[in-house]
Amino acid sequence: MFELTEEQRMVIETTERLAAEQFSSNAFEWGTEIPWENLERLAEQGLLGLNLPEEYGGGGMSEIDVIFQLEKVCRICPDTAFALYTLSMVAPRAIEMFGSEEAKEKYLPRVTSAEGLIAICISEPEAGSDVKGMSTHVEEDADGELYLNGEKIWVTDAHTADAGVVWTKFPDGTLGTVIIEFDDPGVEISENYTNMADGIQSHFFMNDVHIPEENVLVRGPEAFKQQLNALNWERCGNAMMANATSLCAFDKALEYAQQREQFGQPISEFQGIQWKLADMAKQIQAGRTLTYQAVRDADRRGEPPDRLSSSLAALYCSEHGERIVSEALQIFGANGYQQGHPLEYLYRLARGRRIGAGTDETQKNGIAREILRRGGLE
Ligand SMILES: Cc1cc2nc3c(=O)[nH]c(=O)nc-3n(C[C@H](O)[C@H](O)[C@H](O)COP(=O)(O)OP(=O)(O)OC[C@H]3O[C@@H](n4cnc5c(N)ncnc54)[C@H](O)[C@@H]3O)c2cc1C
Repeated sequence: MFELTEEQRMVIETTERLAAEQFSSNAFEWGTEIPWENLERLAEQGLLGLNLPEEYGGGGMSEIDVIFQLEKVCRICPDTAFALYTLSMVAPRAIEMFGSEEAKEKYLPRVTSAEGLIAICISEPEAGSDVKGMSTHVEEDADGELYLNGEKIWVTDAHTADAGVVWTKFPDGTLGTVIIEFDDPGVEISENYTNMADGIQSHFFMNDVHIPEENVLVRGPEAFKQQLNALNWERCGNAMMANATSLCAFDKALEYAQQREQFGQPISEFQGIQWKLADMAKQIQAGRTLTYQAVRDADRRGEPPDRLSSSLAALYCSEHGERIVSEALQIFGANGYQQGHPLEYLYRLARGRRIGAGTDETQKNGIAREILRRGGLE
């Protein structure tokens, strides 16, 4: 779809080969486990944190390279792709963008060497879509030392992460972000939940957690805007994860449709099945175009994607993703409806993409706000 440099082609081909040779045999068996061994293999080949700077063990490449990489890996092993996505485009990305030199040196090499995870901690029991309604807050004592109090919920992989990027209010009422460590005595995980797609999400409390100055990522009047902009990377990553989950389901359905015979012929010979495949292909290609374009434009500008293009990509891919995976499951008939079958897992995964990293409804709110602000589409 795009012209690639020699380096980009090499990275994509190496990732694709590695995924096909080493991640496929147990791709749907990870359950609640994080596929650490796959992450280690990626790290050994210098393929973890492609978009993070080389001085911290990253690849020094651009975001579009991660997007291509996620697509290749997710097509084969969605769980490995999800870990790759969180390592490349979510909390570590915020540390790279806003962190002090000390924070970058401390946290990023652990991520790029597959030694640790960093969670993103935004949601609270009473503040989901309404992020500004959060109660987590930083207090400053007479010596200027910062202490964090509050609670977070639905935080993916907090049970095993080393650190978390926490969204919080500062004493002046503005929203900013800080880094915490999960082994801090003030951090107390109260419950780990297993979501519909076997991911573990935690509820935890922060009680007077000391925040050294070097662990403050952003604060001040512009901080909220800066963070929301940075979140557009996550939206694009989520778009790609949703679209590549669809692609994984499509690949499997296409293969099955050509093998499964009914009425004396492969079911792929029936127009009813062909139209399903055609619709799926149309939607996957449209999702790719929206996502690639949002990320490539941002790479060219050297800043995060804009809200309109990232929310359009996220909304399109998540909404259609659920439908595409459902249609793929339909092609499998009863086979696809069995627990443990890749299609039923992909369906559960696709459902979550319509909620995590911003619900479909909040994406629509963001799109509408941007259209009205701009007076229409370009
Ligand atoms: C798989 C998964 C992984 C997640 N991982 C993390 C994580 O790592 N870290 C983290 O902090 N959070 C995480 N979350 C939480 C996620 O960010 C929230 O679920 C999301 O922001 C929505 O908040 P909520 O669930 O409280 O829903 P609510 O905000 O309570 O919304 C409930 C319903 O009302 C709708 N709604 C709300 N406001 C409006 C409005 N203004 N207009 C129209 N409709 C509206 C919503 O779209 C939704 O349908 C994850 C969630 C999922 C599903």
